[in-house]
Amino acid sequence: MPVIPAWIVRSNLDDPRKIPYLLIWKRESDGKIMEAVRLTCHAHGYSGYVQLKRTDGSTAVLGLVWQPLPRNGGQALLLFCPYCQTPRRFFYGWEWDSFSGWSNRVRSISWRCRSCAQLRYSSEGGYLRPAYGRLGQLGVMLRPWGNLPRPESWLPYVFTSPEEAVEEGFCALK
Ligand SMILES: [Zn+2]
Repeated sequence: MPVIPAWIVRSNLDDPRKIPYLLIWKRESDGKIMEAVRLTCHAHGYSGYVQLKRTDGSTAVLGLVWQPLPRNGGQALLLFCPYCQTPRRFFYGWEWDSFSGWSNRVRSISWRCRSCAQLRYSSEGGYLRPAYGRLGQLGVMLRPWGNLPRPESWLPYVFTSPEEAVEEGFCALK
């Protein structure tokens, strides 16, 4: 599953150039590009939002939430999950297709926190419901099929321009 951590949004906010970042998720096994997102921050002082635009044109907007750090007086940036209305550190863009969990397929969803991605499929796959173990839904779901790998969480490659992405050997993206 592609993951967007809040610290990538923060580095974009801190970038004095005020430019969009291009995030690319590449499958390690064969180098295939699985997902690409253009990240743009719109912030004034402590309020604002981040816009995540996929290559298909679909756009998600997540609110920025600043949380005071007790130790050093700094601020941690979190993003507001639109589904549970809670500030979170990591956002997930895909989920297992709960109707074909055995086939290793995932499908694209709008960005949401981990627990919302899991809630979504416990509500769709009846057999998941009895077991809320420490492994979490993913581990529980795969048990009946033996040793299938858990879906990995991928951090993106971050580029500050499409040209840079092409130079690094990633294909051209609009
Ligand atoms: Zn959530």
